[in-house]
Amino acid sequence: MNDRIRKLVDQLCELQVDAFFVTDEVNVRYLTGFTGDSSSLVVSADAQTMLSDGRYKEQLDEECPGLAVEIKSPSEKPIDFCRKVLGGCGVQRIAIEADQMSVARLGELKQHLPAVQWVETSGVIGQHRMIKDAEEIEILRSAVRINERALESILAKLGPDWTEQEIAYELEATIRRLGATGFSFDPIIGAGPGGAKPHYRSGLEVIGDHPALLVDWGTNLGGYASDLTRSFHFGNPPSRFLSAYEAVLESQLAAIEAIRPGVVASEVDAAARNVLKKAGLDEYFVHGLGHGVGLQIHEMPRLSAVSDDVLAEGMVITVEPGVYFEGEFGIRIEDDVLVTESGHEVLSQMPKGLDDCRLIL
Ligand code: ZN
Ligand code: ZN
Repeated sequence: MNDRIRKLVDQLCELQVDAFFVTDEVNVRYLTGFTGDSSSLVVSADAQTMLSDGRYKEQLDEECPGLAVEIKSPSEKPIDFCRKVLGGCGVQRIAIEADQMSVARLGELKQHLPAVQWVETSGVIGQHRMIKDAEEIEILRSAVRINERALESILAKLGPDWTEQEIAYELEATIRRLGATGFSFDPIIGAGPGGAKPHYRSGLEVIGDHPALLVDWGTNLGGYASDLTRSFHFGNPPSRFLSAYEAVLESQLAAIEAIRPGVVASEVDAAARNVLKKAGLDEYFVHGLGHGVGLQIHEMPRLSAVSDDVLAEGMVITVEPGVYFEGEFGIRIEDDVLVTESGHEVLSQMPKGLDDCRLIL
């Protein structure tokens, strides 16, 4: 039993269950190291068993040596396979991941395993995943580094005739060339008004047709996600752009300064929002301040005005205040920050000062 599974086993008593049925594929990966899909895991104090099918037999042997594996035969219905394995565990109360399992699947389980009491839980493994171990922090550090190197290399060759989509294409190619799997999410590359939509999709807009550019991009390395944003202006920015950029930067620095173990996430959000309020720009900051990153691009904790998550050592979070001027441009600055014992460490080092937002095409 590895440490991650042991931590879940230790919690079974508190959850008042005999076993935990892990069906979220990301959680299965976190607990076992298995990188495939369509597989689930039953964890009890006595046994841990992976439920999978023939496509993954060899991969499971390689990635999860020592883990008990049950393989569904092609002639077996998934629910019959589930009934055989779960029913054979001799457990009465089984925890399920209610925020992941569909109502239809739960109905089927209840129908075919009527003697089992299904206990709905939420975010149990998500809470464990919030605190990264040393190995995870190293991967995240590398994912950030590759992300930065990729954008730096694109900026060095960017021309006015490039489209948003070309930037995305070249960025992804560079990320892959640097050894990562690809993007950790569909990047947001917004020229002019596109950048004013916080979750814009990159399109065929030619960047030289607009004075401003926002790039929000992330690298997937070994399953782990980095997530950064930088905002630019071509040539000398007008004072309206510069003053908004300065306010967003000041707001981001104030939030980062507030990060340390024990602080409630909403206080960090407030630190950023207060700076934008003083600059008269808070109405343009239309989203939360940030989120945890790890095996998923958006995971716990949440940093927002309504989040009561408490920061703890080992969390890796984004800090990304932004202001958006509809039909004109958007400015967002995002970095990935590790919560340390004494405060914080900003994992990303890509320059973001007032001079760094100016791009010459
Ligand atoms: Zn982002
Ligand atoms: Zn983000």
